[in-house]
Amino acid sequence: MSQERNRQVLLVRRPQGWPVESDFRIEEAPIPALEDGEFLVRNHFLSLDPYMRGRMNDVRSYAPPFALGEVLGGGTVGEVVASRQVKFPVGALVEASFGWQLYAKSRGEAVRRIEASAVPLSAWLGVAGMPGITAYVGLLDIGQPAPGETVVVSGAAGAVGSVVGQIAKLVGCRVVGIAGGAAKCGYAVQTLGFDACIDYRTPEFASAFKDAVPRGVDVYFDNVGGSILDLVLSRMNPFARLPLCGLISQYNATEPYAMRNVMSILVNRIRVQGFIVSDYPSRWPKARAALAEWVIAGKLRYHETVADGLEAAPRAFLGLLRGENLGKQLVKLI
Ligand code: NAP
Repeated sequence: MSQERNRQVLLVRRPQGWPVESDFRIEEAPIPALEDGEFLVRNHFLSLDPYMRGRMNDVRSYAPPFALGEVLGGGTVGEVVASRQVKFPVGALVEASFGWQLYAKSRGEAVRRIEASAVPLSAWLGVAGMPGITAYVGLLDIGQPAPGETVVVSGAAGAVGSVVGQIAKLVGCRVVGIAGGAAKCGYAVQTLGFDACIDYRTPEFASAFKDAVPRGVDVYFDNVGGSILDLVLSRMNPFARLPLCGLISQYNATEPYAMRNVMSILVNRIRVQGFIVSDYPSRWPKARAALAEWVIAGKLRYHETVADGLEAAPRAFLGLLRGENLGKQLVKLI
């Protein structure tokens, strides 16, 4: 370790529309020295998430923008490799937001120790971590599905959507996914157990979707916004719920999509609620425990798309925005 240096990915230019690799720069830095009360973590996995695109813009939002010339933020799991802090001894596994870098030091604020279990380390960033908790809170607390109801989820083969659909099946719902491409739809039905999954990239999307929801839609968990949200709105039932989790189709758009079916919200008395998972800290322990239990019991399946090495992170992030990931997009740092 003493010979190695830290490596970091910095944001060096704010993207206009779609990001490009030259918006990022990879730099070396010394491994930080420790003072009393501090510990050093070697990150093993970095999580890449769509919200990062929003934080590259210099606009007011629920979280401050990433600063230019600084290390990009992001969720990480890793191992304590040096310590002057008794609560985080050498060898402890931790989950934190140490960002796009190999090493970080900390005093322990907002760092969670991961106890040994049958859940693999990387899964604490995906199915049993923030995206899984987003699915759990958004579906169960906001969507409030009842057995027999029809739940639709977009981004169905992604980190959040794949968990939403499987929890809805555990509740006893009919589950219809929406995803890009036959491979992702096949995965949602054959591996995750969705009742149907419709490929939004085909010309028959609207008619195929209508056929897949013969009793209308009771809960629409929206990850994408835009024209897909508009279409689903046209098939929603009275008193349906619409947890608005994300709008990825709009994150790189320079012109917002103009909605046509907003009237459906009024006439069907639909409850639309945007939510941010970090606003529900009291739910995290219960959600995390339930997700981990389902993973261990084989009730919750998941896939990870893993980029190899920090240098691959910018390209993998662009791939995530283009839909190249199946399940959770991670970067392996070790
Ligand atoms: P993900 O689904 O694993 O990856 C992103 C996926 O979005 C891509 O694989 C792609 O799949 C899809 N996509 C990209 N462009 C699209 C477009 N124009 N139209 C439709 N789909 C498109 O990402 P995730 O981490 O699970 O996040 C899913 C959504 O949840 C994002 O909107 C994210 O911002 C949001 N989120 C919100 C919270 C919260 O607290 N509210 C927390 C976590 C995530 P296809 O190949 O299927 O297009």
